[in-house]
Amino acid sequence: MSAPANIDLPIYMDYQATTPLDRRVLDAMIPFLTEKFGNPHSTTHKFGWEATDAIDRARGQIASLIGAEAGEITFTSGATESNNLAIKGIGRAYRKHRNHIITVVTEHKCVLESAAAMEHEGMRVTYLPVGSDGLVDLDTLEAAITDDTLLVSVMAVNNEIGVIQPLAEIGALCRSKKVFFHTDAAQAVGKILLDVTAMNIDLMSISGHKVYGPKGVGAIYVRKQSRLKPEPLLSGGGQEGGLRSGTLSPALCVGLGEACAIASKEMEADNQRLRDFFQQFVDSVQAALPNTVLNGDRDRRIPGNINLSFPDVRSDRLLTSLRDLAVSSSAACVSATAEPSYVLRAIGVPDDLAEASIRIGIGRFTTAAEIDYAIDSIIRNVTKLKEAA
Ligand SMILES: *Cc1c(COP(=O)(O)O)cnc(C)c1O
Repeated sequence: MSAPANIDLPIYMDYQATTPLDRRVLDAMIPFLTEKFGNPHSTTHKFGWEATDAIDRARGQIASLIGAEAGEITFTSGATESNNLAIKGIGRAYRKHRNHIITVVTEHKCVLESAAAMEHEGMRVTYLPVGSDGLVDLDTLEAAITDDTLLVSVMAVNNEIGVIQPLAEIGALCRSKKVFFHTDAAQAVGKILLDVTAMNIDLMSISGHKVYGPKGVGAIYVRKQSRLKPEPLLSGGGQEGGLRSGTLSPALCVGLGEACAIASKEMEADNQRLRDFFQQFVDSVQAALPNTVLNGDRDRRIPGNINLSFPDVRSDRLLTSLRDLAVSSSAACVSATAEPSYVLRAIGVPDDLAEASIRIGIGRFTTAAEIDYAIDSIIRNVTKLKEAA
């Protein structure tokens, strides 16, 4: 079948891997890649000041999206660095007082590997399981907290199955137990309402390129009231209050700020469109292929993530047959190994079914015509593969 004139193939449907840069974000960045080239850490002239002013404005835009203050935002190279800084930085700074970290088996690798690094340094780490819905159980979390627990790190939205963890409840529990709460919000910022105060979040990791901003920039929120001082990962000139040395890129910082400002204005409208697309997608595919499984809780999720398993199909041929769609095979191929996804395993999806799964990621620039085409393509190709199986 050839695509209608208004569709370019392949259709980008991998919004959890990265989002396209919003044109308005690029426009805000360009002056800082051209005439406004000053070093923001130059304090003696206009070139430095205009860069500093732009960065501080961006800090405010990020802060305002999550209910924080500008001074609580530190720029990093991305959520990977922010997660490393939160877990290793807090672990190294305070493990003399409390030596236990709690996290979850379905976290992003950079959280799991940072926790493992702290285990190597002598800390104790508990990896909480999740239910078949992908969610952390609060009683299990409470039972894992001891007098020695320093930090609980639970992601806001899962990158593979899109489920939203009960942040407010986890935050309240952590606060009542006087344990610090970190959340990896790379997939949540600009997608769901976040309020660091209402949710009792002490540290939050943010990524630019998951919120229609540029790659190579992110941020970490550190609650001022908590008086937490993570041990820096980098030695250097002491920028960002000593927390993160290195010259900031004004263009990247401005881009992240603009992306957050756009998200605060447009998140609700984006979500309404995506909820309709999600509903149409899942309903149509399940009507034509009734044994299709939607992975992750159906309600407690972001609508931009549609993770489906197709029983009885030749999984090796699934992705090639869908080459018109730029989708992900559930991060099964995060490395060269063909291991089935550890997230799908954690929610109890059998390995053979996990291999026959795809993650469809839709977002701000997905069109109705693309949705129609993708639904049709999946139904046709999966039907063919079932017949061949
Ligand atoms: C993408 C992602 C990261 C890593 O973010 P980078 O900015 O690419 O370093 C971390 N956690 C989650 C949940 C992600 O989706």
